[in-house]
Amino acid sequence: DNPLQLWIPYIDTYVEEFLRLEGLGDSDTNTCPKYLCQSGLEPKYRCNDCQDHQICCADCMLSGHVAQPYHRIQMWNGSFFSHTDLKELGLKVQLGHPLGVPCTLPVAAYDNDFTVIDSDGVHQISLFFCGCQQALSHTVQLLRARLFPSTTIAPKSAATFRILETFQMLSFTSKVSAFEFYKAIERRANNTGCILIPPIVQDRYHVFLRIIREWRHVRMLKRAGRGHSASGVKGTSSGECAVLCPACPLPGINLPDNW
Ligand SMILES: [Zn+2]
Ligand SMILES: [Zn+2]
Ligand SMILES: [Zn+2]
Repeated sequence: DNPLQLWIPYIDTYVEEFLRLEGLGDSDTNTCPKYLCQSGLEPKYRCNDCQDHQICCADCMLSGHVAQPYHRIQMWNGSFFSHTDLKELGLKVQLGHPLGVPCTLPVAAYDNDFTVIDSDGVHQISLFFCGCQQALSHTVQLLRARLFPSTTIAPKSAATFRILETFQMLSFTSKVSAFEFYKAIERRANNTGCILIPPIVQDRYHVFLRIIREWRHVRMLKRAGRGHSASGVKGTSSGECAVLCPACPLPGINLPDNW
């Protein structure tokens, strides 16, 4: 059998289902369908990145995204799903404590404006550092949350480790440039190409370039075992981080004794 030939009679169904996903489908717009929801709020939000694509109320959308602050959400405005985001809905990301544990002295990111570059877009989030007595530096708090800070002083943006791992692998396998990659990520959230149409997020391409450069350097030092050396990174000798060529004959490694 030829799967492509067999698919042809179903093309209309596929197109119709694609269109159905753009609209409300058979969603109930009066009561929130989430199990045990008692908010009484109008269900009009849906998430494009969750497996569960049904609409729900603002309360359920927030409680379902405590651990997923970079998901792209939409709001039904009566005619179509328009853009909104979790920050607008009131989602706060707290660093320095286990998820769900409140901080007694939260410190908002500078200007309450923090940008995160992740795989599904460049997002503006409401980020709070821990200001408790035992609090670590803001940079370390970000790194522990697997967020690579753009600067070491008062960071205003970061990239997730997930997106940096993806980019590094893609740059090896597909030779994609940082510019093309960043533009694709940006368009995952706003495909108009116009910065005046929401979601409005400042260009962070140059930030991304700097982060990538630092990320690669840190990974190289980690792999070379420099983190376990008492002399630290400063004690790295010339050529120490180079990877040995596996094809070159090296005495004691891939050459027989008395060669
Ligand atoms: Zn989601
Ligand atoms: Zn609800
Ligand atoms: Zn705290």
